[in-house]
Amino acid sequence: MQDLTVIPASNAATLPAAPMTLRHWIGGAWVDSTDGATSERRSPAHGVSVSIAAKAGRAEAEAAIAAARAAFDAGGWSRSSGKDRATLLLKVAELIDRDRQAIARQEVLESGKPITQALAEIEGGADLWRYAAALARTMHGDSHNSLGPDMLGLVLKEPIGVVSLICPWNFPFLIVSQKLPFALAAGCTAVIKPSELTPGTTVMLGGLLEEAGLPAGVCNIVLGYGDPVGEVLSTDARVDMVSFTGSTGVGKRITAAASATLKKVSLELGGKNPQVIFPDADLDQAADAIAFGVYFNAGECCNSGSRIIVHEDVAEALTEKVVALSRRVPFGDPLDPRTQVGAIISPEHLAKIDGYVRGAVAAGARVALGGGALEVGGLGAQFYQPTIVTDVRPEMPIATEEVFGPVLSVLTFRTLDQAIALANDAAYGLSAGVWSSDVSTCLDFARRVQAGTVWTNTWMDGFAELPFGGFKQSGQGRELGRYGIEEFLEVKTVQMRIGQTRGAWVA
Ligand code: NAD
Repeated sequence: MQDLTVIPASNAATLPAAPMTLRHWIGGAWVDSTDGATSERRSPAHGVSVSIAAKAGRAEAEAAIAAARAAFDAGGWSRSSGKDRATLLLKVAELIDRDRQAIARQEVLESGKPITQALAEIEGGADLWRYAAALARTMHGDSHNSLGPDMLGLVLKEPIGVVSLICPWNFPFLIVSQKLPFALAAGCTAVIKPSELTPGTTVMLGGLLEEAGLPAGVCNIVLGYGDPVGEVLSTDARVDMVSFTGSTGVGKRITAAASATLKKVSLELGGKNPQVIFPDADLDQAADAIAFGVYFNAGECCNSGSRIIVHEDVAEALTEKVVALSRRVPFGDPLDPRTQVGAIISPEHLAKIDGYVRGAVAAGARVALGGGALEVGGLGAQFYQPTIVTDVRPEMPIATEEVFGPVLSVLTFRTLDQAIALANDAAYGLSAGVWSSDVSTCLDFARRVQAGTVWTNTWMDGFAELPFGGFKQSGQGRELGRYGIEEFLEVKTVQMRIGQTRGAWVA
């Protein structure tokens, strides 16, 4: 270990005495699977059992879809007023705030992320419920009053119907809150499948929806795996839309599965996000943002800034600064409020991260810091050291594929055109960043880079008001902002003749 800042196990006594029991929420009832199947989640950091979840088969997934379909078609929610929907969403936001400590703790125990970050995620989630409530009351269509004296055109926005919301493990509460309140604001009904690794906080959210008075069947939660639950949610003809966040590979499978019924698919997928640093940038600020970008959520983040493209003249100076900061990033026990980097989600994923680093070294890259798993005092070895890999060539897998760990790759450039070509040389197009004190350089980059979000002289800020989503193989559709609700709306055109002025077609 190379002078890293490690936070050992803080207080084993605060670990849960028993795992949380989690059930499906179908048609307003909390139920086990009919065959009694369950799956256990152990804390990636502490190794103890933290939840036992019912594990659904096809029957539970189909029952949840039936409940959502019946609730939608009955119209109680789908035809309710924006005011009533907003009132409920605001109540949910209040309840999330009330329970945020408990929700954050369960998020830490299942995901391994640091407690301060989990808390911020839950608070950010509550903010999304408030924002969606505002959209529920302000969403509207159009009217066309200039189609001629006897014609009026209306463009109505209607809820798309029953939506399947399939979520990943890396930001379980935030991501379900990027989807569900917007779907509900639109008047849709939903079936949610959280990741099998992190089901707890979605079930806790279900409890809050029930407490807030959401009618039975409007939201349903099915716990289980991609096979069969995700597959049923993507293929069943009673589902009108699938909103998926996860890996690009599974996103492609869902798109193919959904094609048989031509349901709408919106996808938030992976990224290999470049940050380009010009010589006139404030290198201290850039170095700090680079450390944040790559170590936030242990790099298990679609927006991870894992690909640094730095001008040759400042590459050495910048790398030294990032290495120095990386030694100071506290990682270890995620229940300790000092910790900024927690555990890796699973041993298999840790091995995958390490494989990218070893592969790069074998291909001629150099490890400037870290480069391996680490046993943290009093905890297991499911931690990966903050790692910086230099002398990376653009064609190496570490430079082109999503590593999803605390691993930074450093590439260099000489000209702006070269930097943009390198930035765009990826199958992904989720986010990108540029660091320069020249606003023209920043704007030129922002306009030419292929990415759904561009940060200039900053990294990974996010706002409910601003849409988020990917170009290329990072996805299709957008979440947040006005688009967040538009995704869940159908458009209907109504053409109205005023008076009996229509000329006869048949002479
Ligand atoms: P994953 O694709 O393995 O799983 C995501 C969800 O899909 C899980 O609930 C899983 O059970 C389910 N699933 C698996 N196979 C399925 C199938 N055949 N049909 C339907 N559902 C299926 O992703 P993950 O490992 O949980 O999450 C990490 C990935 O998510 C990364 O690639 C990351 O970049 C991406 N991500 C993207 C965003 C974004 O907004 N763009 C945000 C967070 C995470």
